[in-house]
Amino acid sequence: MRLTVVGSSGSYPGPGSSASCYLLEADHAGRTWRILLDLGSGALGTLQSLTDAKGIDGVFLSHLHADHCLDLCGYYVMRKYHPDGALPRIPVWGPADTAGRMARAYDLDPDPGMTEEFDFRPYGTTAITFGPFSVIARRVVHPVTAYALRVTADGRSVAYSGDTGVCHGLDDTARDADLFLCEASFLEGAPNPPDLHLTGAEAGRTAAGAGARRLVLTHIPPWHDPATVLAEARGEYAGDIALAAPGQVYDL
Ligand SMILES: [Zn+2]
Ligand SMILES: [Zn+2]
Repeated sequence: MRLTVVGSSGSYPGPGSSASCYLLEADHAGRTWRILLDLGSGALGTLQSLTDAKGIDGVFLSHLHADHCLDLCGYYVMRKYHPDGALPRIPVWGPADTAGRMARAYDLDPDPGMTEEFDFRPYGTTAITFGPFSVIARRVVHPVTAYALRVTADGRSVAYSGDTGVCHGLDDTARDADLFLCEASFLEGAPNPPDLHLTGAEAGRTAAGAGARRLVLTHIPPWHDPATVLAEARGEYAGDIALAAPGQVYDL
């Protein structure tokens, strides 16, 4: 399985990165399958510089905040009106009202909204099998319905926090993961609201407690110095830590 960071900026695009989007690729039945974890503001532009954006097989949204889902609007246009002809309908997993949320985001009539381009599917409690990928979505704590995602393929696992505070859903998602892609939006010592985001130290503690084999910090807002977040995480986790950056590739 290959992970490519498309966008890693927290909460809004930064000068060097779009908001959240990660590409996962794995081979199955004679071809390479491609899925996206989130498609946040600005990510569709970078995606086109990294792969053939028309070749995405499915999208998994962690939650419906703008920085995680809004470029589905542009992607809808690309798939619906492409001059080579409309592209096949693909599945988009997300919270229960993803279809309605995206229709409102584009100011479309909710019927059909984007449902002719995207097959919106809610997360359930069991693993989703999609080509070579097995995906488990677990509820995490955030002001809106939000999920952490655990993706397994080729016997390897990527755990993605989405946006969350410290919680069991996050711990279970990160357990023994080969790579833990974890948000770190807050700094220690600030009056951080509960059940919203993680500090670098909390990301590091979660990775250590879960036995994750590698930690990649992401979703750092442009107003924070990534070096500070990295130092916080290093104080809690002895394993390999990196800062996510667009174009970075991890072969697992
Ligand atoms: Zn976010
Ligand atoms: Zn959020």
